[in-house]
Amino acid sequence: MAIPEEFIQELKSRIDIVDVVSSYVSLKRSGRSMMGLCPFHNEKSPSFSVSRENGFFYCFGCGAGGDVITFIRKIENLDYVESIKLLAGRAGMTVPENGRNDGMGKLRNRIYEANREAARFYHKQLYTPQGRQALDYLRGRNLSEKTIIHFGLGYSPSERFELVNYLKAKGFSQEELYAANLANQSKRGYPFDRFSDRVMFPIIDLRGNVIAFGGRIMSDVKPKYLNTSDTPVFNKSRSLFAMQFAKNKANGQIILVEGYMDVIALHQAGFENAVATLGTALTNEQAMLIKRYCDEVIICYDADEAGQKATQRAIDILRPTGLNIRILTVPSGKDPDEFIRSHGDQGSARFRMLLEKSGNDIEYRLAKLRAGYNLNHSAQKVEFLTRAASLIAGIENPVEQDVYISSLSRELDVQKDALSRLVEKDSGKRNRQRRREEQRRISTELSAANDRMNTEKHLNLRAANAEEALISLIILNPDTAVRLRDKLRPEDFITMFDRRIYEILEKRLSEGLEITMADLSGSFSTDEMSRIARMLASHPRENDPDHAAEEYISVLREEAGRLTPEKAAYADNDTIMEQLRKMKEKKR
Ligand SMILES: [Zn+2]
Repeated sequence: MAIPEEFIQELKSRIDIVDVVSSYVSLKRSGRSMMGLCPFHNEKSPSFSVSRENGFFYCFGCGAGGDVITFIRKIENLDYVESIKLLAGRAGMTVPENGRNDGMGKLRNRIYEANREAARFYHKQLYTPQGRQALDYLRGRNLSEKTIIHFGLGYSPSERFELVNYLKAKGFSQEELYAANLANQSKRGYPFDRFSDRVMFPIIDLRGNVIAFGGRIMSDVKPKYLNTSDTPVFNKSRSLFAMQFAKNKANGQIILVEGYMDVIALHQAGFENAVATLGTALTNEQAMLIKRYCDEVIICYDADEAGQKATQRAIDILRPTGLNIRILTVPSGKDPDEFIRSHGDQGSARFRMLLEKSGNDIEYRLAKLRAGYNLNHSAQKVEFLTRAASLIAGIENPVEQDVYISSLSRELDVQKDALSRLVEKDSGKRNRQRRREEQRRISTELSAANDRMNTEKHLNLRAANAEEALISLIILNPDTAVRLRDKLRPEDFITMFDRRIYEILEKRLSEGLEITMADLSGSFSTDEMSRIARMLASHPRENDPDHAAEEYISVLREEAGRLTPEKAAYADNDTIMEQLRKMKEKKR
């Protein structure tokens, strides 16, 4: 690892995992650990645990886990070195210069640089004769010079080699341009500009890096929008357009709109808390990101059918996060950009009025539902009430439920009790169904993670279980580990994944270094770290670790004589099935 060992040790001593996690998740003490709502999956009751003592986190719901560095890698979507940098900044330390530019980290930095140069290039094009049409287009949309600069808008020329030539002259290689998705490869093997003859919208992350571009065509050619595909620095399902501005202006509230132009028009009109997804439906990750900066989302999608469907989907994604949701419908089928423009000087004030009037998602859904029924007709009225009850049953807060039950029973002249009973019946059904779904999801996720990380585990379950117990014991009891070194060598581990872990631990022990979860995270992916955290979470501290270790080692010795993965590779199917059968019997 390029970062000096002493630096990591110093950093570890200054960073407390509970402090770091607490800036993203609110934690409460529970026994020896701290618990909170998992930031990596949607949940209503806490299954996310953090152990200060042992320096790791683990979610019993989705299986996410690891040390403090893994936590930052996952939640900030950063690589190992970048996460160290972020944590170092927090601890008031500076990462030694030579430790920064290795492998993937270096490529990511080059992509950031190429993107920044590309953004400058596109912006300058606006003020050339060939970019004139694009500039006119933006001005025609009432965008001020200040707004164009604020968002760094630009133009990609129609000649398809201009950006490639410009960036090559700046010293970027073909490979870097492909990796940044700024260029595509022609059939003859030449790179050419990915974007041509489009208005360009740079997409910027929360730390100010240009991570991608959206390009809008000015004619009727399809596709209307073209975006950067996912790259080592960009994941479209985790990013939101203009979030870098909105997060500072959120003040508890984010406006979610459909397009780049809507965001820009709103920011120009003074609503700097508007963001948009990047040409996709809202994702769970984006919902979690929004939740980090506010408690209320106002969905303001287009009034057309597609926009209304997207609204429904967004509500379904946002509801479980506990965010307060309101829906703003722009009148007469306009999108927010058109609405503001069509009202000229009054645009901002008129939009503010819509904002203040916007109802919450339940009101929105009830109104939508109601529009489909003739309420003078008894049978239809009953059906409407049944479906409305089901909707109300989905509300978490009992006080809020009661508000809707009361108002609906008054309006439609039905007994409040009767309506309450309908709602209760539906709630019960809903809870049971939710529990079943949650259980199914967790078990499939856990078993999938199982197979992906340690693909050999199923071949020798007994040995793999002993290995996992040993690894957990070693990390939690380094003293025992030192005494074990003569008796336990990496070759004694039967599955390759576990052997790899022990190799690293053993090497550190032989050099007299500390062993903690954080010392593994430079050598393993975040998914692998989750797997290791699970070993720790599922093996509580032993009372007599030396004795327990002896027992696990003897299991490994016994199993070594049986089915090793090497042997398994040669064994025919029947032998494997036979072994599996025996193992199952043994387990019983
Ligand atoms: Zn989780």
